[in-house]
Amino acid sequence: MSDKPTDRIVPMTSVASGAGHAVLPDVYFLPVQIVNISFIGAAGSKDWILVDAGVPKSGKKIIEEAEERFGNDNPPKAIILTHGHFDHVGAIDDLLEKWQVSVYAHKYELPYLTGKESYPEPDPTVEGGGVAKISKYFPNEPIDISGSVEPLPEDGSMPFLPDWEWVHTPGHTKGHISLFRPSDKVLIAGDAFVNVRQDSIYKVITQQREINGPPTYFTPDWESARESVKILNELKPEAAITGHGWPLVGEELTGGLEKLANDFDKIAVPEKGKYVDKDKKRD
Ligand SMILES: [Zn+2]
Ligand SMILES: [Zn+2]
Repeated sequence: MSDKPTDRIVPMTSVASGAGHAVLPDVYFLPVQIVNISFIGAAGSKDWILVDAGVPKSGKKIIEEAEERFGNDNPPKAIILTHGHFDHVGAIDDLLEKWQVSVYAHKYELPYLTGKESYPEPDPTVEGGGVAKISKYFPNEPIDISGSVEPLPEDGSMPFLPDWEWVHTPGHTKGHISLFRPSDKVLIAGDAFVNVRQDSIYKVITQQREINGPPTYFTPDWESARESVKILNELKPEAAITGHGWPLVGEELTGGLEKLANDFDKIAVPEKGKYVDKDKKRD
């Protein structure tokens, strides 16, 4: 059997929110309203991992889907967070009530997960569409899961997932990480780049595909964000699940990511916004 994800990819036909899809036999993604979460592990496996925790109030749906795929009374070995924004940790309390498991995140993300620090406020003035305008209502306060969250191992290894590694991809948040499996070049990118123009309500609702940088209204450090996209592009992923939008494979991913890395300032960095300093931009 070929190890290329493009040969093993499972056709995905529905865009309905809530219906999950296997991108690979052991990498399954579930859109929960506007955000994606991932299950790593073959169906029925006792060793599976949840990546990210969805929007608030989505706990029931995540648990139902998990039980359908892995069976009842089969909690994940752990929950890994790409970062702690409200739409990626929204159901974490409900999940931890059901499953007493450890949560892992980058050490720089821990202040936002232990009630110590708020994220920089979303920027409703950032150039872009309607989602940016309403982003001022998005919560930026930290959650507090002090009793459950632990830092990821410093060496880049992934708890319970020997084939996977984590890559520090800051910019969108300080401790943002992406997950990568070198053997078949599968990437879970979080919000380091996304596959929908996240600042447009129309494109978010219709989930129109468009490879793009991190969501603008919530990204305070564009220089790091640019470097992070470069790092991910150098990994030459062959399949990617992003935090928002449809998963990417093959040329749509490689071509799109290469273009984003080469032309990051034009494609991803907004023209204006409180976290944008165009003078510091590189040509
Ligand atoms: Zn985010
Ligand atoms: Zn997000």
